[in-house]
Amino acid sequence: MRKAFISPTKYVQGEDELFNLGYFVKTFGNSALLIAHPEDVKRVRAKLDYTINKFNITLVESNFGGECSREEVRRLQGLAKDNACSCTIGLGGGKAIDTAKCVAEGEALIIVPTIAATDAPTSHSAVLYTPDGQFDDYAYFKQSPSVVMIDTTVIAAAPTRFLVSGMGDALSTYFEARATSNSYSNVNAGLPCGVREGACGPAKGTNTALALAKFCYETLLKDGPSAKVACDCNLVTPALENIIEANILLSGLGFESGGLAAAHAIHNGLTSLAGTHHYYHGEKVAFSTIAQLVLENADQDELQEVLDFCIAVGLPVCLADIGVDSVSAEELLEVARKACIPEESIHSMPFPVTAEAVAAAIRVADQLGRNYKQGRGA
Ligand SMILES: [Zn+2]
Repeated sequence: MRKAFISPTKYVQGEDELFNLGYFVKTFGNSALLIAHPEDVKRVRAKLDYTINKFNITLVESNFGGECSREEVRRLQGLAKDNACSCTIGLGGGKAIDTAKCVAEGEALIIVPTIAATDAPTSHSAVLYTPDGQFDDYAYFKQSPSVVMIDTTVIAAAPTRFLVSGMGDALSTYFEARATSNSYSNVNAGLPCGVREGACGPAKGTNTALALAKFCYETLLKDGPSAKVACDCNLVTPALENIIEANILLSGLGFESGGLAAAHAIHNGLTSLAGTHHYYHGEKVAFSTIAQLVLENADQDELQEVLDFCIAVGLPVCLADIGVDSVSAEELLEVARKACIPEESIHSMPFPVTAEAVAAAIRVADQLGRNYKQGRGA
């Protein structure tokens, strides 16, 4: 059986780690194109100035427009060429990171997440949008980032809601990897650059990735609640460090090399309900994870454990928690149909999935979450 695993070349996290950015730029040359939202640059300006002076490097600021579009990628690639940049830095949240991946095309790329809201930083893929913010296409590159660098002090200073959303994204990782493994479905790690199915054939997940995904879930249960409190206090503690690692590294390797299944597909379906638009990716993924567990008729104890965790860290457990106060049967079936289109990861579940079954699972997950909150007097 053909299996594949992909990861960044280096992952490094620590307090004030940004001071070392110049060191990593130096491994490629003397200058880097910096792709970052001006607000994010402002947050870390003092640290950037320090590392520029200490390592005698040049950071070419790019006036990033905020959208990962083909036009913006072309403009930034031109800027990198005109300034003879030796590497690309993507600093900030998802858009800056994805744009940097597209500009670098799998070469000499340093990713510096300033929030831990998703597990995208370590992956070799990005999502392209049109300049007005509509989905365009997925892009896959020949390599994952060269360096993923996390300054835990910066993450601790960011709003807690980002960290909690990251826990929601990380929550689905084990359950989706387990389903993918049980069904012997393909994983993204097998995809080469540019195309969705490799010339040398698709690949299944490794035992390694499944073990990382399981450890990701165990870390969330153990350290999630206290990491949330640490982030509320804007302080780095061992629990917060463990959760940053779970949200970004364990979940990132787990999803890309372990596979996605129902939870992310249900998330994608739910985005067609306007009420969900004000909620973050990981918040919707958390509720979608409960829906996956209902869909696969998971153990009652496991379902209970996931509900307990979500409530403990403040993740959504019902549709109202993600902005959907009421939804008709027809609307819900539409969400489920979207989750079940042929290219969706829901078909990595180890049994045939129908839109009707998915709609039923979402409805029952919603009711379970509401019952749970009522039982707790919440
Ligand atoms: Zn995700």
